[in-house]
Amino acid sequence: MKILITGGSGLVGYGLKQIIFDSNSNDNEYIFLSSKDCDLTNLEQTKQMFEKMKPDYVIHLAAFVGGLFRNLNYKVDMYEKNTVINYNVLKCAHDNGVKKVVSCLSTCIFPDKTSYPINEDMLHNGPPHHSNDAYAYSKRMLEVHSKAYREQYGDNFICVIPTNIYGENDNYSLEDGHVIPALIHKCHIAKQNKEPFVVRGTGKPLRQFIYSRDLAKLLLWVLESYNDKESIILSVSEKDEISIKDIATLIAREFNYEHMMEFDSSYSDGQFKKTADNSKLMRLNPDFQFTEIHEGMKQSVQWFINHVDECRKV
Ligand code: NAP
Ligand code: GDP
Repeated sequence: MKILITGGSGLVGYGLKQIIFDSNSNDNEYIFLSSKDCDLTNLEQTKQMFEKMKPDYVIHLAAFVGGLFRNLNYKVDMYEKNTVINYNVLKCAHDNGVKKVVSCLSTCIFPDKTSYPINEDMLHNGPPHHSNDAYAYSKRMLEVHSKAYREQYGDNFICVIPTNIYGENDNYSLEDGHVIPALIHKCHIAKQNKEPFVVRGTGKPLRQFIYSRDLAKLLLWVLESYNDKESIILSVSEKDEISIKDIATLIAREFNYEHMMEFDSSYSDGQFKKTADNSKLMRLNPDFQFTEIHEGMKQSVQWFINHVDECRKV
């Protein structure tokens, strides 16, 4: 089987590469696509790529992604780029008879004012948080679009809903990255310059974090075994929810620099929490073991230190 992975050069794509490499399985052919291979905002290029590659399956990861501050500052790009990429990928997958597409949503697209924990049925039950509404509405339409293909044409197009992801080969942009890669980079610089390690916001918001390699294993499980029309949350459990302060402390400890941590509450906290319910996942996949956050963080910080000169920072 030929499996095309859009967004194959990103954080999750890298996790998938590692898991596939480690499993030593030669049963399938995997194609990891980056924007250099094909600009998925361009319909003509996307068509040509699908016609050339002829994939049987697609794991659709490609997106214009970033942390809270990119979501706040680039709303038009968040909406337009993601909407166009998703439209082009689903259309070309359908037109080329792809057997299954697994696309990525995110727990940050759930309603802001809601009851907790949030489950799969609540996706459209109210507006998302203002900070990332453009990204969220675009992603919600990916779910609507996937279901429309299923209902009108019987296509096996599925969406997964990962929680916050961290791991190797993230985007370490100081301004636009997600909290973990941005803080890993900031702590590294602070230690080098003997300056305070400044964490944005109050540190009080809560998040669930999944290690990219765990998500990669779950994506392969979804590709092989999950065919329900309803989306599925891919997250650690509610009891693994952790504050931004505790995450920053874990990072600082890896650098042996926790005594220099400070908070700058002039910055936004974003959504306070988005506690997601992973019981559907655990019911279907009861033996799945998540990597403990201390272990995943150790690996992630070490990877950054080893790749500090060449890793993505924009
Ligand atoms: P990432 O590290 O930022 O990687 C994005 C990927 O998309 C890269 O491979 C990039 O290619 C590709 N891409 C972007 N624009 C493209 C374009 N116009 N044409 C072709 N490819 C393009 O993202 P990630 O964190 O791995 O995210 C993967 C998926 O998970 C996304 O759908 C995201 O929405 C979702 N997700 C992420 C998080 C998180 O915390 N990171 C949480 C929940 C859900 P280049 O390398 O060539 O730029
Ligand atoms: P979110 O989970 O979608 O909100 O995205 P992020 O990964 O960007 O996490 C945002 C949370 O981390 C907010 O509470 C921010 O105030 C906090 N935070 C602290 N320092 C940073 C930083 O340097 N970058 C980012 N992106 N967030 C930070």
